[in-house]
Amino acid sequence: MPKIKIDKDRCKGCYLCVVNCPNGLIKVSKTLNVKGVKPAVFSGGKCTGCKMCAVICPDGGIIVYK
Ligand code: SF4
Ligand code: SF4
Repeated sequence: MPKIKIDKDRCKGCYLCVVNCPNGLIKVSKTLNVKGVKPAVFSGGKCTGCKMCAVICPDGGIIVYK
């Protein structure tokens, strides 16, 4: 099954990936990263590998593994 990896310390907390994952698989962390923001985290589940999250991330912080 496809999955993603989010570089939590690169994340600036814009949450574009959170709102654009068609399957709602990306959530907001409860803890802060090195930038002092709560990064996006992959919650697991039925990722289709659509790459929407990776394409929309302005900081290139998401890698999709198919
Ligand atoms: S789109 Fe990128 S920078 Fe924005 S919340 Fe998601 S991982 Fe972080
Ligand atoms: S690849 Fe698609 S389904 Fe998987 S987490 Fe990213 S946006 Fe969601």
